Amino acid sequence: MDVDERFERLRDWQRRLYEAGWLGVDWPVEDGGRGLTVLHQAAVMQELIRSGAPMPPLVVNLVVAGPTIVRFASPEQKRRYLPPLLAGDEVWCQGFSEPDAGSDLASLRTRATRCGDVFVLRGQKVWTSYAHRADFCIMLARTDSDAPPHKGISQLIVDMRSPGIVVRPLRQITGDSEFSEVFLDDVEVPVENLVGPLNEGWKVAMHSLGSERSRILLQRHASAELALKQLSQTIGAQAKRTGAAISDDLVRRIGACRVQLSALGAQVGKTVERLESATPPGALDSVDKLILTEAEQSVYGLALDALGPYRLAQGTPLGLDSERWQHDYFYARSWSISGGTLQIQRNIVAERLLDLPRT
Ligand SMILES: Cc1cc2nc3c(=O)[nH]c(=O)nc-3n(C[C@H](O)[C@H](O)[C@H](O)COP(=O)(O)OP(=O)(O)OC[C@H]3O[C@@H](n4cnc5c(N)ncnc54)[C@H](O)[C@@H]3O)c2cc1C
Repeated sequence: MDVDERFERLRDWQRRLYEAGWLGVDWPVEDGGRGLTVLHQAAVMQELIRSGAPMPPLVVNLVVAGPTIVRFASPEQKRRYLPPLLAGDEVWCQGFSEPDAGSDLASLRTRATRCGDVFVLRGQKVWTSYAHRADFCIMLARTDSDAPPHKGISQLIVDMRSPGIVVRPLRQITGDSEFSEVFLDDVEVPVENLVGPLNEGWKVAMHSLGSERSRILLQRHASAELALKQLSQTIGAQAKRTGAAISDDLVRRIGACRVQLSALGAQVGKTVERLESATPPGALDSVDKLILTEAEQSVYGLALDALGPYRLAQGTPLGLDSERWQHDYFYARSWSISGGTLQIQRNIVAERLLDLPRT
């Protein structure tokens, strides 16, 4: 099955989950949700993952654009955008990062100039996941060039089919092209597409990033738990079948991954609490992200080491699906960067939790 066919199948899966009431569980009923808590939504996602079911594919819809619209958009915007967003009928991307504004996001230079009833957008975004499939983008742009960096930014909903937008997919180490460069050349965006107050997009963006980090974390924690379970069971079954001993190093590393994931599991309740109270991203999210990313990379690194030279073979040598583990290993490398790099998370922990001098 090629990438596009797989995507459409998963999109159909997302539609079915939506129709069954399993998405937007913590959103208000009037916004298309069930009016329950983040803990309920996290439980649904974790049970889906534990059962081996695929995740709904439109991650940006569910963890970035959706929660941002629920929190900051006008009633008209909510009515227009939320139902197709949740059902997966419209695809969203997140246009924050730029070639010279990633870790230092406040230095972004894409400009939105008010001209009558529209903002005119000029600039460039990069690493925009799903941009080549997207119908809409939740985008940050500078609306006041004279204000200090964090002050003159606004968040806009941009129709990705507007004239003046060019999307150029970038190929990743996995071979897929999940993200793209997006060029914006005098793109007109109706003023009613502003989300939240004018020039206060930084506050909106902090909420979007906080939601992204913690919601994704809850899902990825469950995925990593499942991956470790599958990996250790397969290694155990293979050893039983062949009578070969499992090396001490492998046993020690499986144990180390288990400890990392258990440590994170113990914090999940607190993470849910922060989400419930819409706390902006902070040092505790950074601790979660550091532990999770290191655990994920250890699990997938372990799989490749267990495969040894068979990692290059096709099929299931040693009982392990070599293509799947290779893909997941490469994909997990990107988690050191996406949603805030590990170096930046360490800086945050050092300065805000450990009270070390600023770098
Ligand atoms: C798979 C993937 C998907 C992504 N999807 C999206 C998306 O959908 N939308 C979007 O807007 N963005 C997306 N991003 C972009 C991501 O948020 C940025 O890559 C990230 O914030 C880092 O920014 P940068 O790439 O510009 O690196 P830079 O900020 O240029 O950093 C380069 C290196 O310098 C280090 N560094 C920078 N500043 C400091 C410092 N003060 N102290 C110590 N070290 C420092 C960094 O840790 C990094 O190692 C995605 C990235 C990836 C990998």
